[in-house]
Parts: sequence; C-alpha cells; structure tokens
Amino acid sequence: MSAVLEVNGLEVKYGQVEAVRCVDFSLEAGSITALVGANGAGKSSTLLALSGLVHKAAGTVRFEGEDITRLPAHQVVARGIIQVAEGRCILTRMTVRENLELGAYRRRSSGSPQDFDYVFTLFPRLKERLEGLAGNLSGGEQQMLAIARALMAKPRLLLLDEPSMGLAPLLVQEIFRALKAINADGLTLFLVEQNVRQALRLAQRGYVLENGSLALSGTGSELLNHPRVLQAYLGV
Ligand code: ATP
Repeated sequence: MSAVLEVNGLEVKYGQVEAVRCVDFSLEAGSITALVGANGAGKSSTLLALSGLVHKAAGTVRFEGEDITRLPAHQVVARGIIQVAEGRCILTRMTVRENLELGAYRRRSSGSPQDFDYVFTLFPRLKERLEGLAGNLSGGEQQMLAIARALMAKPRLLLLDEPSMGLAPLLVQEIFRALKAINADGLTLFLVEQNVRQALRLAQRGYVLENGSLALSGTGSELLNHPRVLQAYLGV
C-alpha cells in the first residue's frame, strides 16, 4: 500500500491559541484511518486545514504526490478531497434529491441514475424520502444525506468530521456499516471521531490527538488495547 496523503509538521493557530502543533501522519490508499481525541483536542482543526478551510501556520500536505499545502478550498475539492462537515450542513429547505444533485456539482453534473442508485444501496431511506425536504429528516437521516451528498462528488478521499455525533447507538451502527461498505468499494476514508471505540474498531490505523499534538499511533486494534486509550477514552 502507498500513502495517498502525507501531512508533515502541521500547525493551526487561532490568534494565540495553538490548536494543532507539529502533527505528522499519512493515509494509506484504500484504508480507513481514524483521528480520535477528546473535545477540543484539535481534530476538526486538522480536517479543516487539510480541506483548505483554515490557514496552516506551518507544515506541508501532499496528496497523490502533489503539494497541496497552499491550495484554496475549492481547488482541494477539485482534487477529489471531499469533507463531510461536523453538524452535517445539509440544505434543509431543499429536497433530498436537490441536496444530492448539488453534491455532483463538482463534476458539472446533477448525478447519473447510477450515482443515485449507489447511494440508495447504502442508504435506502434516502430513496423513500427523495422528494421531501431535507430539513424534515431525522438526525441520522441527515447524516446519511451528508455522506451521500459527498459521495455524489465521486471523492478520491473522504474526510468525515464526527459522523456519529448526537446519534442513537443503532444509527451509529448503521452509519459505520455504510462507511465500511464505502471503503470496501475502494474509497480512502479519514475519520475524525470522539467515539473512540467505534472509530478504532472500524479503522485499520489510528492516531490519538491530545491538546493539539499526536500522543499515540498504531493499528486500530493496537490502540483499542493500549493502556492509555483504555484508561483515558474507554473508561476501562
Ligand atoms: P470538538 O470535538 O469539540 O470539535 P476538536 O478536537 O475538533 O474538538 P477543535 O475544534 O479543532 O477540536 O479545537 C481545537 C482548539 O482550537 C480548541 O481549544 C478550540 O477552542 C480552539 N478553536 C477552534 N476553533 C476556533 C476558532 N475559530 N477560534 C478560536 N479558537 C478556536
């Protein structure tokens, strides 16, 4: 396997606040990698920096061999790096269909029947709700729509910011099952999560972020059994 994304020495600052400090990691092509940590550890800031949505105070990001460190967000998207934002950010006054069509916009398309069929296979509920307003969906369905909309863009790398946030355990299972299926179809996933157990169960590789710095890294199962993870995040 080869690294599709390489991050070296990443730093993010908000004024005097050092949100991310000297972070290095890489994502293997076709893998699921999890970045876990507590509230405020710097996970979202790391994702936003990759997407070009916040300024990188230092560091480099290479994607498929290209230095994308200084690319603005729309050019990062044009490379196929698509982020599913924390809080879903769906367009609530538009229908489910319109949200999905917008997802395909990066390809100057409103989505082919095959694109729709693919996301309906993953999330059959979206097909049932297709002509309804996205704002009338439940929280879990809105998360499904946010992921499906990102898939309509045909990403080469999917970044997910806390997809399990605020969802009941059964819905979390459903979302994580879909992520596993999406990855099995070949897509590289980078998953930021506070749900440490679920994320490390799903991911082949994980990184633990504490106060803006990487504290641990390893395979998902190594981290799940690491004494520090067990004590600090899993309450064992
Ligand atoms: P959460 O799970 O709560 O989203 P996180 O691990 O994603 O947490 P970040 O949101 O990246 O953490 O925040 C990292 C640090 O940066 C925190 O101390 C936070 O208060 C600070 N921070 C984040 N966004 C801003 C901002 N726009 N302005 C100032 N400080 C910020």
